[in-house]
Amino acid sequence: MADLSLKHVYKVYSDGTIAVSNFHLDIEDGEFVILVGPSGCGKSTTLRMIAGLEDITAGDLFVSGQRANMMEPKERNMAMVFQNYALYPHMNVYENMAFGLRIQHVDKNEIDNRVKKAAEILGLTSQLKKKPKDMSGGQRQRVALGRAIVRNPSVFLLDEPLSNLDAKLRASMRSEIRRLHNRLKTTFIYVTHDQVEAMTMGTKIVVMNKGFVQQVDAPMNLYDYPENLFVAGFIGTPQMNFYNATAFLSEDKVSFELGGYKLETSLETYPKLDKLTLLKNNQVKLGIRPEHMSIITKPSKGDVYLEAEINLVEVLGNETVCQGNIKGTDLPISIKINRDDSIREGETYFVKIDMSKVHIFSSETTNTLCPRIPSYNYVSYSKKGIAGLEIPESYQEVLKGIKNPSVKIPLSAICEGTTYKAKIVNKEQIKNKYLLTLELGNGVRLFKDVDYVIEGDTYTFDIKPEMISFFEDGEEIISSIPENNLLKGVLIPSKRPVTINGKVKKMKVFDYQIQDLVIRPNDDRVNKIYALLGKKFHLHTIEFSFAPSNVVLSNEGLKGKVEEILNYGENATFAKILVGDVHIFAKINSNETKVGEEVFVSLNADELGVRDVNFNVIIF
Ligand code: ADP
Repeated sequence: MADLSLKHVYKVYSDGTIAVSNFHLDIEDGEFVILVGPSGCGKSTTLRMIAGLEDITAGDLFVSGQRANMMEPKERNMAMVFQNYALYPHMNVYENMAFGLRIQHVDKNEIDNRVKKAAEILGLTSQLKKKPKDMSGGQRQRVALGRAIVRNPSVFLLDEPLSNLDAKLRASMRSEIRRLHNRLKTTFIYVTHDQVEAMTMGTKIVVMNKGFVQQVDAPMNLYDYPENLFVAGFIGTPQMNFYNATAFLSEDKVSFELGGYKLETSLETYPKLDKLTLLKNNQVKLGIRPEHMSIITKPSKGDVYLEAEINLVEVLGNETVCQGNIKGTDLPISIKINRDDSIREGETYFVKIDMSKVHIFSSETTNTLCPRIPSYNYVSYSKKGIAGLEIPESYQEVLKGIKNPSVKIPLSAICEGTTYKAKIVNKEQIKNKYLLTLELGNGVRLFKDVDYVIEGDTYTFDIKPEMISFFEDGEEIISSIPENNLLKGVLIPSKRPVTINGKVKKMKVFDYQIQDLVIRPNDDRVNKIYALLGKKFHLHTIEFSFAPSNVVLSNEGLKGKVEEILNYGENATFAKILVGDVHIFAKINSNETKVGEEVFVSLNADELGVRDVNFNVIIF
């Protein structure tokens, strides 16, 4: 039995292929986890790194709390089952299962016990004398499973074990493997490219694409709450319909224009809608599952509908799938309804849309604009309940001149305190968190995520004023203090001794250069960056990040000039400093620093966040 943890794992093959990027996953002891995604997305590479058959380029693998990156495969006590069963053709079933134990010199009686027990679990007891060639594909795959079971591994790694079998056998082997897991209660990690297999087998599914984890979730959550366009399109058959649309927000409504139709609904339909992103760019991708539309004879008042020319009707027993295009356009549409024998190919029908089930994705990032845990609240500032925050005087002046300011309050700006008291009107469990809906009076509602159960129905809190920002008609008029300062830089060559795996070697490596400041990262950092970027490190643009509270003003570092002192109340004073042509913020002791003063910002090379801009990979 074992739990596993992969932390920021990368795999870069020697030809430069980045097969896996920033893979982050915790697997509990006894869990059944599925890695799913299209061919080439990095599933097998991930599994092989877990097994120890492939080196981990960067990041950490922990098995039962122990770092396992350098462990030999056999020390890991994992058993792998492949698509091609790789049975020995000249050995019978018994010998095939016993072989691995024999070479480990396991006692003969023990081998006999284990093989017979595995055979019993797999229903192979009567087949033990048979040779693989005399068995069906399903039976052979069972022998391959048996060979893994007899080893009593703490983790089973299964790499597309069923893809050589026909559809019917696959379905029955699926349930067999589930039953096996229920019986053995061991950790299973299962790789497949087949979404149906993933949805029916796993309790936790990791959807991957192009080496990146797209979403980790329970099957139905992937279906109900896809976090991006890729997951939305990957899960579900027939596939979700996708349309480019233009979104319009009004005080209480949102509408989408597509193919000459206007789909309008109350804003309350999407309480978690990321309005600010929508106001910045109103081009969206709408996702509508075929089963969330219905064919109606005539729209009633309030129905949201469009018209579709149906050119293909597939009757699948209890359901009917209609394919066609949105009337007057070449936009394809598929609609899945209960069996209806009256639908005719070549006819045009009214199609009603269940707007509460429509998915809205940013056309820029392809991420959902209705995340299950929103990152911020966006509410009117004028209404009582939120006003009265302690903000710098200069900002109060600005706000006086604004008619209807709105305020953006990140969920992370809300913390337990005493200033505000709200009624908890909803608690939603989302993975290991709870999302509270707080009502402040005057209709103002705020979301807040907490990672523990809150008893009762009131929540008292403070809002960190330095983290909020103000808007007028969607335009930012007062910014918050950023969570992180960002500065662009490069890696410049430097030849020096570096310690790699305990050995000192003189190597051509690099230092960080940020504007005219050169600083030296430690050898661990050098090793990781070098492993990821290789010899062409100098071609990469790097973004360095550091929190305002970590900025130290001293007599060396980046030269800057203090432009403004922002006072957000006790123990929250910040200096806005112009460094080159970039503003950074530093948390200061209010009486120490003055406007107009020249200062030096000193940076600790080993505490900086480092992101490769070209690869869009967060390295630290
Ligand atoms: P999957 O299992 O999802 O089909 P893989 O993990 O096998 O994907 O491969 C991920 C990526 O890594 C692919 O682009 C593949 O071509 C590449 N790859 C796999 N093995 C090697 C290798 N030995 N050398 C270089 N590239 C490789």
